[in-house]
Parts: sequence; C-alpha cells; structure tokens
Amino acid sequence: MPEIKAKVSTNPSPYASLIARFNEAADIINLPQRFRDILSVPERVMIVHLPVKLDDGTTRVFEGYRVIHSTVLGPSKGGIRYAPFVDLDEVKALAGWMSFKTALVGLPYGGATGGITLNPKVRSVDELERITRAYTRALKDVFGEDSDIPAPDMGTSAREMSWIFHEYSRIYGYTPGVVTGKPLVLGGSKGRVPATGWGCMVSTMLALKKLGMNPRQCSCAVQGFGNVGSWAAKLLEDQGLKIVAISDNTGGFYAEKGLDIRDAIAHIHEHGTLAEWKGGERITNEELLALEVDVLLPAAIENVITEDNAPSIRARIIVEGANGPVAAEADAMLDSKGIFIVPDILANAGGVTVSYLEWVQNRRGHYYSDEEIRNKTNPILTTAFEQVYETHQHHNCSMRIAAYVVAIKRLAEAIDLEGNF
Ligand code: NAD
Repeated sequence: MPEIKAKVSTNPSPYASLIARFNEAADIINLPQRFRDILSVPERVMIVHLPVKLDDGTTRVFEGYRVIHSTVLGPSKGGIRYAPFVDLDEVKALAGWMSFKTALVGLPYGGATGGITLNPKVRSVDELERITRAYTRALKDVFGEDSDIPAPDMGTSAREMSWIFHEYSRIYGYTPGVVTGKPLVLGGSKGRVPATGWGCMVSTMLALKKLGMNPRQCSCAVQGFGNVGSWAAKLLEDQGLKIVAISDNTGGFYAEKGLDIRDAIAHIHEHGTLAEWKGGERITNEELLALEVDVLLPAAIENVITEDNAPSIRARIIVEGANGPVAAEADAMLDSKGIFIVPDILANAGGVTVSYLEWVQNRRGHYYSDEEIRNKTNPILTTAFEQVYETHQHHNCSMRIAAYVVAIKRLAEAIDLEGNF
C-alpha cells in the first residue's frame, strides 16, 4: 500500500480518515491489492502559486491546489474551497470523497477538489476576482468540460464560478460546461443553489422512514448555516421537522419550541453571519452537537465529531451535510451507541447530482424546469440510498462502510474492464 505523505495540519487527518474507511470496506469485499493501490492514492496532485496584486498595491503569493483522485468513471468533478485552513491533506481527502460519491450515485464522473489557502472574509471582491482568475489561468490545461470540472464548495459560490467560466472562455472560447454552480443567466441550472440541502432533506426523510420515525415528531439540530446548512434546515422544516438549533462559526442558537429558520436566513442575507441574530438562546457549537435530538445535521467542516466528543453525542440519526464531519476514530463509538449515520458521500450528493444536470444542459443547450430537475434528481438519490441500505443489511456493516462498498465495487469493475496496465 502506498505510503500517505502529506502535510497534516488538520487533526485528525481527513485523508487518513478516508483511507481507514476505504480499507474497512475493501476488507469486507476482499478487494484485490491492485485496486487498493490504485484507489488509495490520487491520480494527480497539483500545487500552484499565484502572485496577485492586492488593493493596497502590494503583491501576495497565494497557494492553491487541485487534486484529481480518479478519472476512471469520467472527467473529474469537484468543488473549490477558499478557507484559511485549506491544505493538501484536506484537498486530497475531499477529492477522494468526490470519487466515491460520484461512483456511489452512478454519475459519469471521477472525483477532484481544489482549494486556495485564504480567508475570503478579509479579501475584497476585487481581490477575490483576481485570485480566482489567476487560479483559473494556472490550471487552464487541467480544467475542461471533458477533463476536470470545478464547482462551488465552502467559501466559494456562483460568483467565483462565473469568473472561472469567463476566464477559461477567454482562453478557449465559450465553454459553459467547464464549471458548474454558475448563476442561471450564465448557463447555471435551476435547483443548483439548494441542491445539496435538498439531497440532505431527501436522505433524512428516507432514513426516518427506514427507522419508522414520524418527521412531524422529530427535532433537528443543524451545524453550519451556509449554503448546505441553511437550505437543509429550511427544507426539513417544510417537511415538518422542528429545527431546535442552528449555528455558524460565531456560535449557535437553541429553542425547544423550534427556531424561525426563515428569519435566520433573512438575517444571514443581510448581515453575513448569525452573530447578531436574536432568534434563540445562545449555545456553543459543542453544545449543539451534544443535544438530544432525533436528527443531527453537521453542515460545516471536517472533524467536528472526534473520539473526544463522540461519547457526548445523543442524536438518533446523523446526516452528514458536510464532508468528513466525523473522524474515522469516532466511528466505533457512534456505531456502538446505535446511531444511524447517513454518510457524507450519500447525504450531500445532491449538489454534484444537479451539477451533473447543469453540465448536461450546457452541452445540449437545452434547459430544464425546476420540476424536471427534481424529477431527475430524486430517483438518483433514492436509488443510491436504497443500494447503500441493502448493502448495510447484507454485510451487517454501518451505512458509511456500505456506501464505500457500493462505490469501490463500481470503481474496481471499471478499472478491471479498462485493463491494459
Ligand atoms: P458555506 O461556506 O456556504 O458555509 C459554511 C458554514 O459553516 C458557514 O455558516 C460557516 O460559518 C460555518 N462554519 C465554518 N466553520 C465552522 C465551525 N468551526 N463551526 C461551526 N460552523 C462553522 O459552505 P457550504 O457550501 O455550505 O459547505 C459546507 C460543507 O458542505 C462543507 O463540508 C462542504 O464541503 C460540504 N458540501 C458542500 C456542497 C455545496 O454544494 N456547497 C456540496 C457537497 C458538500
């Protein structure tokens, strides 16, 4: 097995978490060594240094990454993250999770992820535009609608996707399919903005049904109130769940009778954070995670549940809106408590599914209605959930390991059929 050589600044290492689960799933299906060797390392790792002029006239060099984990099932697909803690280990993990996610839901894509180590909150819009354009130029030979297709992730949105689309099209001509998550007017798709939260809602409803729980009698706590968390909270509230807690990086709020999610969303649109919101009793992120709720939906960052706080988790179900919110070292403890976990590569697959539909629409020049998007997305997510649930029962393993089993089987079959090593 190749050695994992990466700078590890996030503790525990997200990439090590990915490998631990990969190995557990590979053992269940007796995966031959050559597939393990291929799938446990990324195909390509790129580090770019971007000199960018700041608003004050000085120049700063930003470090960016793009990791392509696999192109076995198609062009690589995955987000771009802007955050101060972005490092190679995290981007490698995110790229790997993308490969397993696209394989799991059956999309004709491989997996990749990119990122730039920066704090978008302290950069002006002009600076962010120059950084994004510099990043696009640095990776112009990597990105492409048939090779590697970025999308938004934490700290990026339709705005950054517009800049990538425009910068790339300046070089190669009009190519809307080079990036997804664009604004509607630039060839984006209906339903892309809420897509990841929508997928979280769909998988939560499926999980509740499997466990015989009535959504109207269920409470839910959501950590992270950005794109994924705020949409998931709103859509779950629409399904009758009571959202008793929400949080962002400034802290959290609790109300036993349920929070006013629409008001919280309006506040975020106006102020950018929940810091000054007055909609509930103040709690910390740690307290939110430890609430006794039916559904806990972490939708912020990796490693918010580790072996340190796993003993305090009291949720019946965890739906992983974020990528990697539970460190591998916490799995055994959560499993022993009987917590039903809908893993990230299943729960947050709604985003890449609608991104795929955006790419299809861009290539055909024909655009779908909201209803068509929902009618195409829901069966993809439901089928994936059912396959994972069946595998979980068949192998008597967790939903997480079952999801890896389904994904790895598909990837290994494709590698085998391609042959020619
Ligand atoms: P975002 O930038 O829109 O929002 C992130 C939210 O998390 C913000 O509310 C932020 O304040 C909060 N946050 C950050 N650090 C925190 C901390 N330490 N404690 C509590 N809250 C914290 O990002 P997003 O696009 O919603 O992504 C959230 C997660 O979902 C990430 O793990 C991302 O990889 C994953 N994801 C996103 C998409 C997508 O389509 N955007 C798709 C799949 C997975």
